[in-house]
Order: sequence, then structure tokens, then C-alpha cells
Amino acid sequence: MTIDNKNNQSVDNPYQMALKQLEQTAKIINLDPGIHKILSKPKRVLTVSLPVKMDDGSVEVFTGFRSQHNDARGPFKGGIRYHPQVTVEEVMALSMWMTWKCAIVGIPLGGGKGGIICDPKKMSKTELERLTRRYAYAISDIIGPYTDIPAPDVYTGGQEMAWIMDTYSTLKGNYGEPGVITGKPIAVGGSLGRNEATGRGLSFTVREASKRKNISMNEATVVVQGFGNAGQFAAQLVEEQGAKIIAVSDTQGAIINKNGFSVNELIKFKKENKTIKGFPSSTETSNEELLTTECTILIPAALENQITGENASRIRTKIVAEAANGPTTPEADQILYDNDILVIPDVLANSGGVTVSYFEWLQNLRREYWTEREVNDRLDEIMTRAFGEVYDAHISYNTNMRTASIALAVKRVAEATQLRGIWP
Ligand code: NAD
Repeated sequence: MTIDNKNNQSVDNPYQMALKQLEQTAKIINLDPGIHKILSKPKRVLTVSLPVKMDDGSVEVFTGFRSQHNDARGPFKGGIRYHPQVTVEEVMALSMWMTWKCAIVGIPLGGGKGGIICDPKKMSKTELERLTRRYAYAISDIIGPYTDIPAPDVYTGGQEMAWIMDTYSTLKGNYGEPGVITGKPIAVGGSLGRNEATGRGLSFTVREASKRKNISMNEATVVVQGFGNAGQFAAQLVEEQGAKIIAVSDTQGAIINKNGFSVNELIKFKKENKTIKGFPSSTETSNEELLTTECTILIPAALENQITGENASRIRTKIVAEAANGPTTPEADQILYDNDILVIPDVLANSGGVTVSYFEWLQNLRREYWTEREVNDRLDEIMTRAFGEVYDAHISYNTNMRTASIALAVKRVAEATQLRGIWP
């Protein structure tokens, strides 16, 4: 337990939350107690101290982690985050969630996650390069194209991935090994379609959900909270399917137009003005009103804990598609389920990103480049199948889509673990 300073209440840390989720799932699927014990712990957690020469000549020692949760179905896979609040428990929980996410979409990868406690906003590019290379060096013995393939996460991106790829390649024999990491820029082996993958994957799950709920996309109205990478592409792609985007928000505010926005114009406006606030022919509203605006599809694409026990009963939508990680609290989940609102959970709705990371890895191993069309078609196939499997499971287990998706994932990982056995 940790203390939440704002409310002075004890709250579960992310790892305790992940364990509780596993416990609930274990009951539903009658998980073998031995396998439950195995899945409760990461296979390996490495903590590293990272001395870095700063630009002013001083030395700082940063702490980094790499948690490898499970590789029964394939190499560990998961991002690396740079943030002052990174903790080992957070990295462990995120690595477990990656195991479930890869199993839900049925790609042959396991779960990992990394992090460094640092404040990248206060560091220069050269300091970040030295820190990144030092971290890559420190974890180089446990990552690799067939063992553990990291990717970007909060405050890391293509440049950090290129440095890690270069450091690893140089250490291991001085030949390029792009398959050690994904989320790379195209010039060093990145994949076409990676930038929009999360939004595109989400739009496929929305399309499938609306079929199940007998909703015509041409008549659907959509509200998007958060207009960043995931939110913008999600909005653009559901608009392509015929839906009308009637409200959007960012950190500066929220706007509404019941007749619908042009998403391309909104993106252009946001690029020029750094916010969507002030967009022509829109009315300003509050973030709270935005979430409770009547619509067909609500896409939270900003932060965690947005749909809560306090506001869930006022949410008037048919589908919630979670682009963000953890936007709905467990209490709200139950209210939405009771109100017959279909929640496409984060582990399914935003898994387009890791799926295209998998495609990037495949292209690297085969020294191939796929066309954008090929990437998008394969993504569609995987997301459509995964949605169908989770949807069927939520009916057969008589539970919500989130519990059904984790149950499906744990079952798959448990089966692989059982078949491989315990050795030595
Ligand atoms: P981003 O930084 O590009 O965009 C976040 C957006 O949310 C910004 O427009 C910001 O202004 C807005 N925002 C922040 N706080 C807000 C608030 N209180 N109210 C309204 N808007 C607010 O980030 P992103 O990459 O789009 O990620 C968004 C969410 O999606 C995160 O939870 C992330 O973990 C999740 N996600 C993203 C990806 C991806 O590939 N980008 C993949 C999986 C999950």
C-alpha cells in the first residue's frame, strides 16, 4: 500500500492492482494454483544504476529497471518509460499487463516493461543520449531479438529507440540488429503505419462493436477526450467509417458542435494553435460535460481514472472505446455494465500499437519492408479476430469485456506455461 497524499487514503500500488485482477480472473477460469503462483511474479526484474556525465561535468547516478514478466508464448515485449515517478512496482505491473495484451491479440510475444527514474524534460539531448546508451548497455545481456524486445513508452520515442538499437548492435558484434527494438524511425528499420497504429486498431474494434450493437456508423456520434496521438487518429479513422465527431478536448479545454467537426481541420487547427480551443463554429464546454454528452461512442484518449463511480451513471453512450490506459475505475466499470454500455477495454482497444510493433519486428527479422496497405490489412485481421474472441468470451463468462479479455489472456498464457512445464 502507498498513501495518496491528496486524499490521505491508502491506495493499491499498480502491482497490487494487477495481482488482484489476476486473482479475480483465476476464480472465473479455475486457474491451476501452481500456474497462478508462477503468473503472479515476473520471471526476472533487473535493477541497474546508471552513472551519467552531465553537460556541466558533474556525475548523476540514475536508477533503471527492466521487468520480464512472462515469455511462455514468445519473447518479452514492452516499452521503456522515462519519468520521475517510475517505481519498480509500476514497471512490474505494466510488464504483467503486456503479457495479457499480447495474449489477447494472439501475437507470439510475452510481457516486459522498462523504466528509468529521471526527468527527461530537464535534460539536454546529449545527456539523454548518454543515459539511454548507458541503460542499453546495462540491460544488453537480457534483451535481444529473440529474448526481449523493448519499445517506446511515456517520454521515449524513435530517437531513443535508434540509440538503443545502435548501442546493442555495436556491443554484440558491430552489425545492425534492428529486431532488438521496435518503434524505430523508418530510416533505421521502423514500420510504415506505426504512428497511427493505436488509433487505427481502435477504429477496427469500434466498427466490430457497432455491428454487435446494431449501430450504423453513418448515424453514430462520437466524443473524444484527449486529442493527442491516439485520440487524433482514432477520431480520423472512425470519421472515415461515417461517424460524426461532435465533441473533443485537450488539456486547455473542451469544444462541442452537434453538427460534427471535420477532423482534418481540427488536426490542422491544433497543430497551428497547440490547442483545439477556439476552433471556429464550436461552443466551449467543460471536461465533465464532455464526458456526459449524449453520443453513440465515447473515446477516452487522455488519462487514467476519468470515468469514475461519481460520473459513470451520467454517461449517455452505447460504446466506450478506451484508447487511454486505465480511464475507467472498477466501480465505474460495474455501473457501465449494469447500464448496458459496452466497454472495449484498453488491453484490447489500444493494442494496435503493440500489434504493429510485432509487424515491425517480423519485417526486421526477415529484412523486409511491408507496404502500408499490408500493415493495415494485417492489423484489421488481428484486431477483428481479437474483438470477436473477447466479445464471445464476455457472453459465455457472463461478465464485462475487461474481465473477459483478461480471462482469455490468462488462459492462453497458462496453457503455454503448462505445456512447456517446469524445468529444471
Ligand atoms: P499524447 O500526449 O499524444 O495525447 C494526450 C492528449 O490528452 C493531449 O491532447 C492532451 O492535451 C490531452 N489531455 C491530457 N490531459 C487531459 C485532460 N485532463 N482532459 C482532456 N484532455 C487531456 O498521448 P497519446 O500517445 O495519445 O496517449 C494517450 C493515452 O493513450 C495514454 O493513456 C496512453 O497510455 C494511451 N496509449 C497510447 C498509445 C500510442 O500509441 N500513442 C498506445 C497505447 C495506449
